[in-house]
Amino acid sequence: MKELQTAALKALENLKKLENLQFIKEDEEARGISAALSSELKIIGDKLPLLIEENEKLKSENHDLRAQLAGEHGFDVRDNVYYASDGDGPFCPYCYENRATKMRLRSLEPGTAGEAKYSCRLCESRY
Ligand SMILES: [Zn+2]
Repeated sequence: MKELQTAALKALENLKKLENLQFIKEDEEARGISAALSSELKIIGDKLPLLIEENEKLKSENHDLRAQLAGEHGFDVRDNVYYASDGDGPFCPYCYENRATKMRLRSLEPGTAGEAKYSCRLCESRY
């Protein structure tokens, strides 16, 4: 989510640079497009913090619900994924809860899928 905020800020900076280019200043249509883009970016920038806050809240609620469900099925939850009580795992929470399948997750190389550490070969969920 930090990446999104950074991208929105950089987009605004780049737009300002673009607006200062002489040929843009001299072209009425380009100025119109630039003004529209600026207003659209402002809407995105204004909504982004709320979206990030809501996403964090949903992640937290999801984590708590997952932990509750996992406990009911005898799993432990670590890094948002399921482990058997003997430590075997990790297993896909989605596949277990929705398909009654104990699907082993594969580890992802750090940084290859954002914050995700695991992916499921069956449902393609990332955790
Ligand atoms: Zn799965």
